[in-house]
Amino acid sequence: MNTNRRQFIGGAGALVATGALAAPAIAQAKPRVVVIGGGPGGATLAKYVARDSQGAIHVTLIEPLKEFVTCFHSNLYLGDFRPYDSITHNYSGLAKYGVTLVHEPAALINPQTKTVRLASHTTLPYDRLVVAPGIDIKFDSVPGYSEKASEVMPHAWKPGPQTQLLKKQLDSLEDGATIVMIAPPNPYRCPPGPYERVSMMAHVLKKKGHTKSRIIVLDPKPSFSKQALFSEGWEKYYPGMIEWQDPKMHGGIKGVDPSTMTVKTDLGEYKAQLVNVIPAQMAGKIARDAGLTNDSGWCPIKPESMQSAKDANIYVLGDASIAGDMPKSAFSANSQAKVAAMVIRGELTKSPTFPPRYTNTCWSMIETDDTVKVGGRYEPKDGKIAAVETFISKTGEDEDLRKQTQAENMGWYQGIIADIFA
Ligand code: FAD
Repeated sequence: MNTNRRQFIGGAGALVATGALAAPAIAQAKPRVVVIGGGPGGATLAKYVARDSQGAIHVTLIEPLKEFVTCFHSNLYLGDFRPYDSITHNYSGLAKYGVTLVHEPAALINPQTKTVRLASHTTLPYDRLVVAPGIDIKFDSVPGYSEKASEVMPHAWKPGPQTQLLKKQLDSLEDGATIVMIAPPNPYRCPPGPYERVSMMAHVLKKKGHTKSRIIVLDPKPSFSKQALFSEGWEKYYPGMIEWQDPKMHGGIKGVDPSTMTVKTDLGEYKAQLVNVIPAQMAGKIARDAGLTNDSGWCPIKPESMQSAKDANIYVLGDASIAGDMPKSAFSANSQAKVAAMVIRGELTKSPTFPPRYTNTCWSMIETDDTVKVGGRYEPKDGKIAAVETFISKTGEDEDLRKQTQAENMGWYQGIIADIFA
């Protein structure tokens, strides 16, 4: 930070910014909430604080992307159930609530001076900071894998070009092709996501009449989310096509070689035409650099508010946080954002708040008109966010119910997108 800039920050309640961010004198006295990350966590929070404080709080959302492509429903894009455009959204709807958007990355959080430095070196002071950067991929958790290798063997666990690359590769396969997926270890973003993806890939192959192709899933976990439901669906719709291997079956994942398109396990070697590697994950870099993570690589929070356990002026939302029994999902991030927004608005404007309540549902599509779900209600209990009620679809459910669950899934997507971005 240069001297001029430091002097500028030092001015009483000044909003330090470029011309684009300059605020009228009256607005400068307002408390300032700065949000890092415009996904379901950060964008929901920015909207709710700005809207519910009715202009009494100045909210700045820092997000480098002008268009946000959702990971949620990206599997449906893969399976030809939605076009790419329909999972792509922009931030123009947030302006009417008074949210100031800054489209560049946050480079550094300084908790001592309560400032965020942008990549352009502009510095933003905050009264409360919300950190919602999502995940980073631990490339080295799979030997031989790297960011460079992901251009050949996509992870597609972050949205955008990776998702499009995976789709292109899937669509170009010939009958008889082998797909290998390396599934991630816990905890990771979207627990049923890899298995919904397998279902959608199988759907595409089946639709093209590829009876000789197969999908091998090498899993570092002994079991996975909604396993009985997926296993039943795979048997029903894609018999003989999908082979799921737990660590006892493959003996350990030894690594990948993108130059030969091979995957090695302790007990075998697979040559594949498509390799989807979903490595271990951790909280986004900006959260790690700010010391908001613990040894697990994720950010501990207070379950009553999503306030960081490491800094009382900072809140962590969504995938980057350790949210107890809540899975890392867009639904969870959106629900956590509403709790944190209420607490922050209450503190900064001395307005009423209510007991925190969290909810989540994760839908997974197995085949056309056949969707299953898992979810729950959550409350703070014994120092964590604990499930107080859970539900899951049952095996053997009738077709109408599964069709209705798919209609719910599509309705949820439309609803959450409006809740985040409109
Ligand atoms: P993100 O959505 O990752 O948003 C973080 C944002 O922060 C990004 O836009 C990023 O650009 C920005 N950012 C990062 N670092 C910085 C920085 N330094 N400065 C400024 N900005 C920064 N969830 C569901 O609920 N339902 C589903 O059906 C579902 N399906 C899924 C399917 C797949 C294949 C995958 C991979 C995920 C799925 N999810 C689903 C999970 C869901 O996508 C994530 O849980 C959700 O996006 C997390 O939201 P977030 O706000 O925490 O992070």
